[in-house]
Amino acid sequence: MTPYGAPQAPLPVALNVNENTHPVPQDVADDIMDSIALALRDVNRYPDREFTALREGFADYLGHGLTREQIWAANGSNEVLQHVLQAFAGPGRTAFGFAPTYSMYPLLTRATGATWVAGTRAPDYSVDAADAAAQVADVAPDVVFLCAPNNPTGTPLGLEVIEAVYDATAGVVVVDEAYFEFAPREERSALTLLPGRERLVVSRTMSKAFAFAGARVGYLAADPTVIDALRLVRLPYHLSALTQAAASAALRHAPTMLRMVDEIVAQRDRISATVEALGYTPHETWTNFVLFGGVADPATTWQALYDRGVLIRDVGIPSHLRVTAGTEEETTAFLDALASIESTS
Ligand SMILES: *Cc1c(COP(=O)(O)O)cnc(C)c1O
Repeated sequence: MTPYGAPQAPLPVALNVNENTHPVPQDVADDIMDSIALALRDVNRYPDREFTALREGFADYLGHGLTREQIWAANGSNEVLQHVLQAFAGPGRTAFGFAPTYSMYPLLTRATGATWVAGTRAPDYSVDAADAAAQVADVAPDVVFLCAPNNPTGTPLGLEVIEAVYDATAGVVVVDEAYFEFAPREERSALTLLPGRERLVVSRTMSKAFAFAGARVGYLAADPTVIDALRLVRLPYHLSALTQAAASAALRHAPTMLRMVDEIVAQRDRISATVEALGYTPHETWTNFVLFGGVADPATTWQALYDRGVLIRDVGIPSHLRVTAGTEEETTAFLDALASIESTS
């Protein structure tokens, strides 16, 4: 097996792991510092094991009438997903997702001793409700991952697919909305499907839209009985007092933290339009990144961009590369570098 390993190279333009490349605004950073300083005074004591204030913060942020009993959080949504698998997967059980999808699902699944089963998508990476339900019914998985929109392809997923998959399984259905904030404004979240669906879990992260990747904070919303199951598998005090303080402070500034989302979406759409003009084939995306095909030799193009100071991602899909939308300057640097390379197939 190979560990998760996106290269961490100190290049001037790093657009490879879908971070928000805009720094946290100074006034918010100052407030977060004050909150951490306050938390430090009590750091001789264990933190609030139930991270009550933070769960309230997430419930308020998500809306939809959610309360803190329906919220869970951990050190990145990767840990949140790991908790779900530790509680509901394990030896003799199966987790399922439609490939290509987020590379951590199989790793986290296998680390609990469970089996990973990959389903299939249409050639444009979409998934339709009837086909999805049939595939899930066939495998009868204990946990289903629906990445909405999907990483690494950017593909949106209709709520009708989630409903159909939920009805086709007796297992836990996890909708990973890591990129939800980049979807069109009027789109409904899977959070709207939670009432009456006690096996549905909707996960989110502060790592992408929220410009908080380095703080490691992810969260989910689900039925309170699911939350109780997650309490069984988490390590005691898994969220440090400093993490709780920093995340709660950042949430108080949610509109400011999220203020760059529209700008990032504009750069994403500019990437799609420009790579298409250069002869590549960008896929539809509701995220902060673009997967584009028509790359004759992805490894060579990746290296040529690297040599020009631009780091993007080879996600292992033949003829494709993935790039994160950066600031206007970073995006320009990427597009100029790509234009200087002769590499369409
Ligand atoms: C980035 C990402 C995550 C989460 O990352 P954390 O930093 O661990 O919160 C989860 N799911 C998908 C699909 C992602 O792309």
